[in-house]
Amino acid sequence: MLKKRKIIFFVLAALIVISALIYFQINNKDYINISYKKFIEYVEKGNVETVYLSNNSKIKGKLADGSYFITDNPRSESFKESLLTKGINVEETEQNAIIMNLLTLLLVLGSFGFIGYFLSKNTAKQAQKEMAYMSSIESDFSNTESITFDDVAGNDEAKESLKELVDFIKNPEKYERYGARMPRGVLLYGPPGTGKTLLAKALAGEANVPYFAVTGSDFIQVYAGLGASRIRSLFKKARQAGKCVIFIDEIDALGKKRSGNIGGGSDESDRTLNALLTEMSGFKGNEGIVVIAATNRIDTLDEALLRPGRFDRQIEVGLPDINARYKILRLHSRNKPLDKNVDLKKIAYQTVYFSGAKLENLMNESAMIAAKNNQKTIKMEHIDKAFYTVIAGEEKKDKSTISLKDKRITAYHETGHALVTKLIAPENRVTKVTIIPSTKGAGGFSMNIPPNSMYQSKEDIIKNIKISLGGRAAEEIVFGKNKITTGASNDLQKATKMALLLISRFGMEESAGLVSYETLLGDKLGTNNFIVSKTKDLLEKLYKETLEVLRDNLDLLEKIANYLICNETIGEEELNLLINH
Ligand code: ADP
Ligand code: ZN
Repeated sequence: MLKKRKIIFFVLAALIVISALIYFQINNKDYINISYKKFIEYVEKGNVETVYLSNNSKIKGKLADGSYFITDNPRSESFKESLLTKGINVEETEQNAIIMNLLTLLLVLGSFGFIGYFLSKNTAKQAQKEMAYMSSIESDFSNTESITFDDVAGNDEAKESLKELVDFIKNPEKYERYGARMPRGVLLYGPPGTGKTLLAKALAGEANVPYFAVTGSDFIQVYAGLGASRIRSLFKKARQAGKCVIFIDEIDALGKKRSGNIGGGSDESDRTLNALLTEMSGFKGNEGIVVIAATNRIDTLDEALLRPGRFDRQIEVGLPDINARYKILRLHSRNKPLDKNVDLKKIAYQTVYFSGAKLENLMNESAMIAAKNNQKTIKMEHIDKAFYTVIAGEEKKDKSTISLKDKRITAYHETGHALVTKLIAPENRVTKVTIIPSTKGAGGFSMNIPPNSMYQSKEDIIKNIKISLGGRAAEEIVFGKNKITTGASNDLQKATKMALLLISRFGMEESAGLVSYETLLGDKLGTNNFIVSKTKDLLEKLYKETLEVLRDNLDLLEKIANYLICNETIGEEELNLLINH
């Protein structure tokens, strides 16, 4: 195929060169412009050897001395005859013109051929690139074989969830017998460097199957239709491998929300996404193929990706808390000569908001510093130095550079929410309090509202408003009225909405009456002075009561917040223990 192309190329090139040469041969003689009078003079003197007749306004000719001339064409019928009678050669250049036209045609054709050749050469290159790309799809069986869940520290929930899949990959027939539909796709979401890739590799390693990895951004910025065909070849390759794990990093790059055109994906990424969805629905379910996708921006993903049969299992992979950080640090110093003076617990404490990748980087930098200084062991001072290397050059807004002061503020704020819940609404479960930000928001506490009733009572809504205000209240009590922070903005939004509904929709605020202000005012609800002031009054009253509840339990607030500062996360049982003892 390529050989044939080469031959065509050479023939075309030769043709172009030859025609160009002939063309210039004919046209590039030095013609001297002479007047017609002079020409007649030459004719009379017998100085003219040949005249090339043509239909042009000019005629050319050759003189006896070998030089060439050009002069006006008289265009008379008898011109040729009079020349001939004077013994001058006359050549009709019509033929010449035809040759010229032919040559021009050839030149044009040649050029087209040339361009065509280059275009085809480019697509050939593209195809070659494509092939190189397809074979570059990582499928390192040998590498992942050695990676297991033991290589992932922390991330316990994600690990548990993935462990279930190991058996599915190994024995898909078993699940099929029970009629169970196993998840085809798992979406891991969370900040970068938290071990999502590592988890996918560990899954493949544990199940002892090949691992195929691609990155979402590889699929965009390619020729039309190529992204889709890449997806198809990826799945083809995976199917040929039999059971396997396919890992798609940065899935957000090809699965952006398609809402309108603003900020949405292009047609090309749509096509790629559709190809992915088609391939995934093509699974029979008993093939033992699991697709793992990773993103740090789940909010931007197209809902189509999250539907049942697609990435219907979504697992958050969050930043590690202090215990997880300790485990990760231990894991990454396994093969390193640590000095006795190194206190990994202390380092874990100092590295709030560090991801697993950053911790790995920290230990690696420490080892490099120790090696550079020819030390036998890695000492605390090396790690301290490495600490600044790792966080240097990072943007201030990066969470890991947030000071311990912020840690304290977050701790009291979250404790405020949790404690108010426990004190005024003990029927709710607080399953987790943490100062490590999750994808869903900064810091956080999770509360399970018992879903025992169809209706919410006025009391329920009031309690929820107070729980929302608990964070701000705790900040004010501990740090003072002027030290309150912007951390409560979301809480205030929620509280305001609830208060507004209570008054304007549910008719629960006595002084405002049973009027559905929502019905009366519609959009203008928020600009109505009466409603605004009623909402403000209600929030003020409830905030005062919240402050009171917390002030009455200052010891608990201190105790829980301090525990949170040390441990960063409090589980349900620990929280109950702290409150009841
Ligand atoms: P992500 O895919 O979430 O961006 P990676 O899995 O690529 O993160 O993590 C990069 C590296 O950071 C890993 O190869 C590993 O060395 C380290 N790492 C991250 N999280 C963990 C963890 N939970 N346990 C152990 N090492 C981790
Ligand atoms: Zn809050």
